[in-house]
Amino acid sequence: MMSRKYDDLVPSPDPVSHRVRLISANWKMNLNHLEAIALVQKLYHLLRPEDFRYAEISIHPPFTSLRSLQLSFEADRMPFTLGAQNAADEPSGAFTGEVSAPMLAKLGVGYVIVGHSERRRLFGETSEEVARKAIAVQAMGMRPIICIGETSEQRRTDQTVQVLTEQLDPVLSTYPVKALEGIVIAYEPIWAIGSGESASPELVEEVGGSLRQLLTERVGSATAAQIRLQYGGSVHPGNAHEFMSLEAIDGLLVGGASLDADTFALLVKSC
Ligand code: PEP
Repeated sequence: MMSRKYDDLVPSPDPVSHRVRLISANWKMNLNHLEAIALVQKLYHLLRPEDFRYAEISIHPPFTSLRSLQLSFEADRMPFTLGAQNAADEPSGAFTGEVSAPMLAKLGVGYVIVGHSERRRLFGETSEEVARKAIAVQAMGMRPIICIGETSEQRRTDQTVQVLTEQLDPVLSTYPVKALEGIVIAYEPIWAIGSGESASPELVEEVGGSLRQLLTERVGSATAAQIRLQYGGSVHPGNAHEFMSLEAIDGLLVGGASLDADTFALLVKSC
């Protein structure tokens, strides 16, 4: 097989939005470092050069696999971007069990998920803390993927946009406007995560449109036009294309379907 030219595999921006699409694999607390290496090697061989030109692909393993994947990507010139699933809001100190943004930056991490609903729900992270984490990530030259989403009860009682606005507010009010261009927002309805019940494309387009309107009002149209919006929640190879075709959506945050190389490769190719 001819070796692939790594430098050629730079994703092209979407011709209409001019934003670079981003498909992110959130492995959550799954796979040890040996399994992680095996998965990315298989995935790389299943993907074609054009898949890497369509979208940037970030892989977010547990912390214990970051160094192994960093070395694998470099050694085999795999054009994946390394991602993390969380970061502390402090750079160092007496915070047992935490991992800081400077540590992640040193490992070549490009994107850090902050405020995933599992972290908000299971570990009590507040939107203010999420904003501090996002700022800490960006201060180290990485990009935060800021997760927001409503519960099924909040959706049923028509509070979706209000909840999403409240979750984003600390970010929008504490970030310098220019720096907001670098953020990614992942809209992940909580009821759709890991449930097998994805949101409908119509709903995602409607919520995505409301988020774009909110961003335009709060930070101006030039900055809002740079912010990328992902959808996450039970994305699989059968529905990924529909979400990626939506005007408001620039990418996907994928949990379960990213844990198997064949399935994730199929999903990326389907887009
Ligand atoms: C997620 O973990 O962010 C997610 C969207 O999970 P799943 O794709 O499994 O619903």
